[in-house]
Amino acid sequence: MKFGTKAIHAGQHPDPTTGAIMTPIYQTSTYWQKTPGEHKGYEYSRGTNPTRKALEDCIAALENAQFGLAFSSGMAATDTVLRLLRPGDEVITGNDLYGGSYRIFTKVFADFGIKFHFVDLTDPASIQHHLSDRTKLIWIETPTNPTMQIIDIEAVGKIAKEAGVLYVVDNTFASPYLQNPIDLGADIVMHSVTKYIAGHSDVVMGALVTNSEELYKQLFFYYNACGGTPGPQDSFLALRGIKTLHLRMKAHCENGRQIAAFLKNHPRIEKIYWPGFEDHPNHEVAKKQMLDFGGMISIVLKDATLEDTFKLASSFNVFSLAESLGGVESLINHPATMTHGSIPKEVREKVGVVDNLIRISVGVEDIDDLLEDLKQALG
Ligand SMILES: *Cc1c(COP(=O)(O)O)cnc(C)c1O
Repeated sequence: MKFGTKAIHAGQHPDPTTGAIMTPIYQTSTYWQKTPGEHKGYEYSRGTNPTRKALEDCIAALENAQFGLAFSSGMAATDTVLRLLRPGDEVITGNDLYGGSYRIFTKVFADFGIKFHFVDLTDPASIQHHLSDRTKLIWIETPTNPTMQIIDIEAVGKIAKEAGVLYVVDNTFASPYLQNPIDLGADIVMHSVTKYIAGHSDVVMGALVTNSEELYKQLFFYYNACGGTPGPQDSFLALRGIKTLHLRMKAHCENGRQIAAFLKNHPRIEKIYWPGFEDHPNHEVAKKQMLDFGGMISIVLKDATLEDTFKLASSFNVFSLAESLGGVESLINHPATMTHGSIPKEVREKVGVVDNLIRISVGVEDIDDLLEDLKQALG
């Protein structure tokens, strides 16, 4: 089956009791058993719930994976992966990461004796300097947030495989529509479902998918034992959103292309990050592994103080100033004080997350209105 058909049908079957086409919201914590242990596959909703199961199977299908698990947030999904590690283990990851990932690495799991190396993954060979027999996990994110570096998923996968190290890709920014890391060698794909997959800024949710039954069982153990699982209402909303993922992504990419072109030579802009430009340093890798270039764009304002940047960020009519991304509505974000506020200034500035950087999540509104709004805000 192709992508759009899977988005609408995978994991979803007419309800066996009523024939309902939409997967019902199974708002139940527990399930009847005929005799102890004799049930229909569901015992308690922390572990399994039919609405959540439909969503998990759908996301897995979209990532060309066999197994899926949904979580109450992207961070709960990340937390579950990190629970596979033990004190003394080491992780190699990128130097431009989602702020919450950086925070859970350095402020939560570092305290349990896990060591994290933050390296420039646009040069996969740089991983070699940090590999040792203590390395247990390579964690990447591509495109990176917010500077839109593109990391070669397949090249890093080869290094991970050779070293016998678990390889996880946070695929939130691309969505399964633009790239499928499992096909390129990832062991686990992580998503913040909150973003493009759900797509309507109305739920916070995460997911993990894998093709390995053994990994699935290990992850399922922590998912059920620690309990970061989502309820049926949120699962239903995400399932409803996912049905239009392919349509929305096409529109995000098309609007993104036009906005990137408009901003490229704008006199108020010093730098623009978008992987679709031929002069983007990783453009060839993006072309190779992504179906299109997405709707995430970051800009650095020319000669702008923090105050100037705040002023611009607050002067939009159609774009909203808000954290998050990937919804149908266009958003403006100031990473240094919003999404990346938990990363120390020296650390974030080293990778270009400066005070005059603004990130744009291009929505699917009419392009003329978006361009008009940008023109007036920059004017
Ligand atoms: C938002 C985000 C997360 C965290 O997901 P939540 O659903 O907010 O917990 C992780 N990685 C990336 C790239 C994100 O954008």
